[in-house]
Amino acid sequence: MIKSLRGFRDILYPESKKFTEFENIARRVMDAFGYKEIRVPVMEQKELFIKSTGETSDIVSKEMYTLEDAGGRNLALRPEATPGIVRAYLENGLYNTQPVQKLFCIGNMFRAERPQKGRYREFEQIDVEYIGNPNPSADAEVIILLDKIFKQAQVEGYTIELNSLGCPKCRPPYREKLLSFLKQNEDKLCENCVERIEKNPLRSLDCKTDKLWLRDKAPKMKLCLDCENQFNQVQELLTASGLKFKFNPNMVRGLDYYSKTVFEFKSVEIGSQDAIAGGGRYDSLIKSMGGPDIPSIGWAMGVERVLSIIKKEPKAVYPLAFVISADKEGQTRAFVMMQELQNAEIQTGGGLFSQSLKSQMRVADKTNAKYALILGEEEIKSNSVTVKNLKSGSQEKIARDKIINFLEKNK
Ligand code: AMP
Repeated sequence: MIKSLRGFRDILYPESKKFTEFENIARRVMDAFGYKEIRVPVMEQKELFIKSTGETSDIVSKEMYTLEDAGGRNLALRPEATPGIVRAYLENGLYNTQPVQKLFCIGNMFRAERPQKGRYREFEQIDVEYIGNPNPSADAEVIILLDKIFKQAQVEGYTIELNSLGCPKCRPPYREKLLSFLKQNEDKLCENCVERIEKNPLRSLDCKTDKLWLRDKAPKMKLCLDCENQFNQVQELLTASGLKFKFNPNMVRGLDYYSKTVFEFKSVEIGSQDAIAGGGRYDSLIKSMGGPDIPSIGWAMGVERVLSIIKKEPKAVYPLAFVISADKEGQTRAFVMMQELQNAEIQTGGGLFSQSLKSQMRVADKTNAKYALILGEEEIKSNSVTVKNLKSGSQEKIARDKIINFLEKNK
């Protein structure tokens, strides 16, 4: 038998319902905040991710699913949504009509990581981008929006961490300082950090293996006045909005394009994969992709990880009516009645008319239906339906034209 790929999963009911319910909550909140949905392709030119997410990022250099199509084009399955959204923003000229765009995207991402709990090769992200607003209120808004979604969905026990990565003015001198510190301590770094020391020294600050000793000893970032003001204002706005957060000077995030504010929502409940969502400012990304100079901020949330810490189970839904018939004429009428019930938005099961009455009843019981609706010869004669309450076992005959009324009253 052909099996699914490692790290790729089937999501069956009722888990699938958990996804839909969570997405619906997120949609409602994003709608209230004025974010509009954008859907972008799952596959793009490989070049797009190299140029935006960055060649030195793990998700591009190690984890991207790439392929060459029949026309010799180099393609990639999206490892994250921001590059596609920014491309769409530019390609569709959205900035000509309205440079400020508040967008969200819900979809699956692909990363060839080593699968483990909370880490898949295909997973769902909800992604938010606030394009075109340099004001700290945009930073605060997207963080508050994320928090609001979690609160509405009863996600508990998470913390919010914040940092500023500076800008092209203050980051390069810091990078140099950190680089020389790392070079002096190269023998104490893990393999990964040694490898990326020149390409992306900042990444060693949040390396899981090295960070304990690095955290204390590494030189600290000194923000320029602009960045410091920006960062202070973001914190002020969050505090004024009643949000609790922690400053984490070692949080750098994995992607190359971030500047200024970066943040992560973490939960200890998911073990080593502790980030449930994260994001930051990407003020120079749009320009670097050939667009105008438009500062932006966004985040991405991993839906699987979030769902794994929501304790509340979705409400199970069972058919209200299960339609049963075991003779030929009854079947046609039963089939038509099923559609009437479905049209009235009554959850209806049944239709297993090739099986015996007894086995149809057994299935009705198994589906946890409340009522079995039986239509046989006798019922046709008396223009009625036998309604059996599968919970109490009681049975009554109801006039055919009163059945919807009865079910609606006895939901
Ligand atoms: P990132 O774009 O790496 O910051 O990821 C944003 C969020 O997506 C993370 O906080 C996780 O919740 C989720 N995520 C990232 N990679 C995976 C993965 N391989 N499997 C499941 N969720 C993931």
